[in-house]
Amino acid sequence: MAVALGIHPRHASRSTRTINEWLERLERLLRSERVVADGEIGVDHSEPPQNWHLQMDLLRLTIPLVKGNHVLVLHCRGMKDDCGTEAFMLLLNLLKRLPVTQKIHLHCFTGNAYVLSRWLERFPDTWFGFTNKVATFDNLQQEALTSVPESRLLLESYAPYFPLRGNKWSAPNQIYEAAARVAECRQVPVHPSCRRRRIMPNAYAGWESRYLLGLIGTSKLLTKR
Ligand SMILES: [Zn+2]
Repeated sequence: MAVALGIHPRHASRSTRTINEWLERLERLLRSERVVADGEIGVDHSEPPQNWHLQMDLLRLTIPLVKGNHVLVLHCRGMKDDCGTEAFMLLLNLLKRLPVTQKIHLHCFTGNAYVLSRWLERFPDTWFGFTNKVATFDNLQQEALTSVPESRLLLESYAPYFPLRGNKWSAPNQIYEAAARVAECRQVPVHPSCRRRRIMPNAYAGWESRYLLGLIGTSKLLTKR
């Protein structure tokens, strides 16, 4: 099992003392052999605007802790009912000191084709994660999804969020649905291995499984340099 560790932007409004304690612990834990990815970190503009500068401050404190051989797992959410172009471009700017070779997992991607091309231009080793949220994509988001190079596409269960209709929570055994929706949008057949996952027992349910399943088939991404 691979571990990713970070401080989520939704926690940026915690007290200075708490944030400092977390940063200290994060710096220590990121040295562990088991940790291969830093995140989620990023920006979330679905939070009240008065918290946005706190998210930027947190990110500026966290970026220097990122290990060069780790994958950076980024959370980026725009304002409610928006594809978040301003949030993606702000985040891209906040990461300007990172090397062009940085491996990035831009998780639960909701951006348009413009955002996609700007990210790949600046960070060619960006992988784009898609969840059941694809079901709500508008035409511009679908255009982005169809233009993601296959080698840069990840499927995420994102448990427990975005459950299927009739379910309180999502779980890794629902990843088939994300695969089916992505395949439908890209007009390609669903890979048989995804079909098998549909009947996989829910043995991995839980928070820690998010990256286990989300990153299945992406050994290249997690290969240590
Ligand atoms: Zn997230």
